[in-house]
Amino acid sequence: MNGLTQSSYVSLPERCYAVQNPDPVAAPELLWFNDGLANELGVTAQLDVLAGNAVPEGCTPLAQAYAGHQFGGFVPQLGDGRALLLGEAKDAKGKHYDVQLKGSGRTPFSRNGDGRSALGPVVREAILSEAMHALDVPTTRALACVKTGERVQRETGLDGGILTRVASSHVRVGTCEYFAAKSDIEALKSVVDYAITRHDAELLENENKYLLFYESVIDRQASLVAKWMSLGFIHGVMNTDNTTLSGETIDYGPCAFMEAYDPATCFSAIDAGARYAYGNQPSIMQWNLTALGEALLPLFDENVNVAAGKAGDALSGYAERFAEHYTTAMRAKLGLKKHDASDRELIGDWLSLLQRNELDFTNSFSSLSRSAASTDEALNAVDASWFVKWRARLTQENVSSEAIEKRMKAANPLYIPRNHKVEEAIVAAYAGDMSVSERLMMVLSNPYEEQRGAEDYMHPAPANARIYQTFCGT
Ligand code: AMP
Ligand code: MG
Repeated sequence: MNGLTQSSYVSLPERCYAVQNPDPVAAPELLWFNDGLANELGVTAQLDVLAGNAVPEGCTPLAQAYAGHQFGGFVPQLGDGRALLLGEAKDAKGKHYDVQLKGSGRTPFSRNGDGRSALGPVVREAILSEAMHALDVPTTRALACVKTGERVQRETGLDGGILTRVASSHVRVGTCEYFAAKSDIEALKSVVDYAITRHDAELLENENKYLLFYESVIDRQASLVAKWMSLGFIHGVMNTDNTTLSGETIDYGPCAFMEAYDPATCFSAIDAGARYAYGNQPSIMQWNLTALGEALLPLFDENVNVAAGKAGDALSGYAERFAEHYTTAMRAKLGLKKHDASDRELIGDWLSLLQRNELDFTNSFSSLSRSAASTDEALNAVDASWFVKWRARLTQENVSSEAIEKRMKAANPLYIPRNHKVEEAIVAAYAGDMSVSERLMMVLSNPYEEQRGAEDYMHPAPANARIYQTFCGT
């Protein structure tokens, strides 16, 4: 693939990664390529590279080492077991991006896994991550989907696939935990300096850079989870190895968008205790950031008590930052910009109303956008008293109802990747038809504007197509 350069990760101590070439595949086929993203990055499609059958000139593919807390339990070694960092690309502003293959074969971190991916999860990640990008959520992106022409064995035999993923870096909370658990402070420092260079370069010369960096990650993640919450997005597997330092959403395994509003919603088949249910996400992120703080303690101060005090102070800002980001996002969804002490209650009452009536999260907000200028009979009938309060609050904004409607339409998407539509696209992809995915991705690339002929994408799943469980890509 033209346009890729050597990954800067090779400048880190060798124990941070394992050099590994992808395993070639039998009969690769390029199913989907993201021309828009490729243009932004100045790269071109080259099937043999996207399939792992060739390595771009000058690049050294590598698997990154990391650990992680999975469902609350610490696993000291995970690492890229089915992914390889191929190299880096640069956008027009000079910002660097990792380009990674996912499903490219075994690595020293594969444990018992085959290093491969089935086609379904590859298509799923491409659809979901690109939809998130269009919804203005920081996320890893998808550059290409390849069908390998080989089968992978899961519960049944399935067609294999490889995703090319693009990220502003792949450094995770679990990357820091990996070195902290080994008391390898030198490597820990290198990897954190590396992340600072990529994400907060202005801190490099600051004598307090590690603590400021930690605060910066806290703020990015508080903002990210607030965005998820405002869209009804459920990540599904918020382990610390799936939590980035960049603040981008990563790992589209069992994730899903909620339809009827209920904070207890949890789709993941492997999450029996519903640890990662929708309503738990803000506090789970705080838990993950606590784990990050603990891993970074040696960088905050030589004295562990002093270091712990600093980490605690930084972490105590999380709840407030999250509440701020969340309230701002929810205010915007209700057409509000000004701050009023009663706003949190207004938001909470609206959500209770949705929950009591089992209303679709996304569609209720978009109906509300339309009812800003006129009275929407259907919603009004549900709870007239809430509407009276909301309308009274809108008058405080001192703008026309048309302006409110415009604001709300910009904050409330019409189209989200609904589970049953994603499933339909995956079934068609396995059957050799990518047109269903292409059409879905086209609609999702413009989520805030009404598109003629796309009504079907707005509807919640009919009872017979409702999805109750989602699965990891493994
Ligand atoms: P995930 O559930 O995708 O976050 O993956 C957790 C860990 O399992 C990571 O270390 C992955 O690299 C590893 N893993 C997942 N699937 C496979 C596979 N098919 N082969 C090897 N390793 C895998
Ligand atoms: Mg992962």
